Amino acid sequence: MKSYQKVNLFSYNTFAIDLLCDRLIEVEKEEEVLQLLDNKIFESEFLVIGGGSNLLFTKPFNGTIIKMVTKGIKKVKEDDFSVWIEVQAGELWEDFIFYCIDNQYYGIENLVGIPGLVGSSPVQNIGAYSVEAKDVIEMVSGWRISTQKSFQLSNDECQFGYRNSIFKSEWKNDVIITKVLFRLSKKEKYVISYQGLIEELGKNPAPLSLRKVADAILALRNTKLPDISEFGCAGSFFKNPIVSDDVFLAIQQRFPKLISYPVSDGKVKLAAGQLIDLAGMKGYREGNVGVWPKQALVIVNYGGASGEEIVAFYKKVQQCVFDTFGIAIEPEVNVI
Ligand SMILES: Cc1cc2nc3c(=O)[nH]c(=O)nc-3n(C[C@H](O)[C@H](O)[C@H](O)COP(=O)(O)OP(=O)(O)OC[C@H]3O[C@@H](n4cnc5c(N)ncnc54)[C@H](O)[C@@H]3O)c2cc1C
Repeated sequence: MKSYQKVNLFSYNTFAIDLLCDRLIEVEKEEEVLQLLDNKIFESEFLVIGGGSNLLFTKPFNGTIIKMVTKGIKKVKEDDFSVWIEVQAGELWEDFIFYCIDNQYYGIENLVGIPGLVGSSPVQNIGAYSVEAKDVIEMVSGWRISTQKSFQLSNDECQFGYRNSIFKSEWKNDVIITKVLFRLSKKEKYVISYQGLIEELGKNPAPLSLRKVADAILALRNTKLPDISEFGCAGSFFKNPIVSDDVFLAIQQRFPKLISYPVSDGKVKLAAGQLIDLAGMKGYREGNVGVWPKQALVIVNYGGASGEEIVAFYKKVQQCVFDTFGIAIEPEVNVI
């Protein structure tokens, strides 16, 4: 393990917030987590991070940041239909996706282009283009801090929901995820129900393949999302709100083109990006912070913004959506 004092977090968060933390520890081997527990690192303020692509730091972090940098992608089992792959938390999500594509393992290709590390993928049950991490996660392993015991949670026990899991709710800030076991399909199958994806695939005459799907998704993402090497952001800033059918119908009367997805129990999911757009905030900018002109769900740091400025700005966006629709949109990003 490596330990550093007074580290600037600028390169540890994709929002590019320039702040210091007291100490940063990089965990290089799974066993080192035990050392951290023995050394009582978790008795003072701490935060476990991955690639920092879903975090917004608002003040200097007066404690220890723990970053998993453990590596390893291992096939542990297979049958005629499936393959089980165990991946260490510190692996780049992107590297795991391309490992699956190269080996013809199906199920995860729609999640290409999402930044971050494998260990964070269960935390908010990452999702894109009609696929979520929960569709392929079999087991999540790690250490629980309050009990100082290791855990292995099955898919059901992870309590996955829309951008949610036990790790973002009941066990929030109480775990270090060390590895994730994924089950992928060896049989050719694709999830290409999303209309924009169907259209993008249609532009390429090559037969359908994992590479073709991944390329189409990357092309789509590039048209909508900022390049994080140029603009600070954390992807979608807000979750899509889920409202009752009655609320949906009332808003639809005023905005007939309202995008909606039915979810369980007579509830409807609305597109937060569209609500921000209809509220007139798409492309709106104040100083160094703005709503991305090509995708209203994304808040960007145009350079030099502080976490506090971004918080003040996102609250303004929230208020504007609330004033227009009476709907409270909640951040998907972890505000620290
Ligand atoms: C341009 C862009 C596009 C994005 N697109 C998408 C998208 O399409 N879909 C989507 O779902 N998300 C998207 N995101 C959000 C983000 O990439 C994901 O949430 C990702 O999983 C975060 O990974 P990370 O390693 O950067 O985690 P971090 O941001 O470092 O951490 C996220 C959370 O996980 C916790 N955590 C991290 N590692 C561990 C661990 N080992 N043990 C316990 N807790 C841990 C942290 O404490 C924090 O609460 C996007 C972000 C950006 C910048």
